[in-house]
Amino acid sequence: MAGVRTVWRVTDDGDFFCASCGGDRRYQRLAGRRRLTVLGVPLLSRGPAAPVLECVSCRRRFPERALALPTTTQLATLLREATHSVALAMLAAGGVDAEPARRLALDAVRDAGFPDCSEEQLLTVQASLAARSLSLMAQEASETVAALTPHLATPGRESLLLRGARIALADGPYREAERAMLEALGAALWLPPADTERLLTAAATATS
Ligand SMILES: [Zn+2]
Repeated sequence: MAGVRTVWRVTDDGDFFCASCGGDRRYQRLAGRRRLTVLGVPLLSRGPAAPVLECVSCRRRFPERALALPTTTQLATLLREATHSVALAMLAAGGVDAEPARRLALDAVRDAGFPDCSEEQLLTVQASLAARSLSLMAQEASETVAALTPHLATPGRESLLLRGARIALADGPYREAERAMLEALGAALWLPPADTERLLTAAATATS
């Protein structure tokens, strides 16, 4: 006869990754007020209920922290930007003069989601960054990579470091600046220094 009923109203909407649908969906943010009801008639307010997100497609409800998960579209963008900045950082550390390194950097950028990027465009961006110090480049690349890191499993994080390593190795053994850049990227990818070291050594052994 008596119970507590929550009355929901929509306060906001947007896109999120629905773990139930397994894809990018619209959500509605719902704010709720709990009311004591007697015989179905709402009487006393029992205060607000925690806001929830409701998937517009499957109607499953999630706590607001579901928004911390990127949509697949956001994830693709993060990956593209991280790969782009790793490629630029490695070119900056190793010099753009080496043709093989440039080609690998371009492959990395194209694979990551800029399929039409031309060598000229890459060099133009590179040239505009040339005035910056390597430590600033390392810091910026690390920040871009760090935005992606929490969303990647270990193999994905290792593979991004290896892409950088291969660009560095394209024109011979690691230079000191390349090694420093890769170590900074390894840290931004949450790889323990010993793992970064192991991966860099393995990449060098495979190339030589
Ligand atoms: Zn859903």
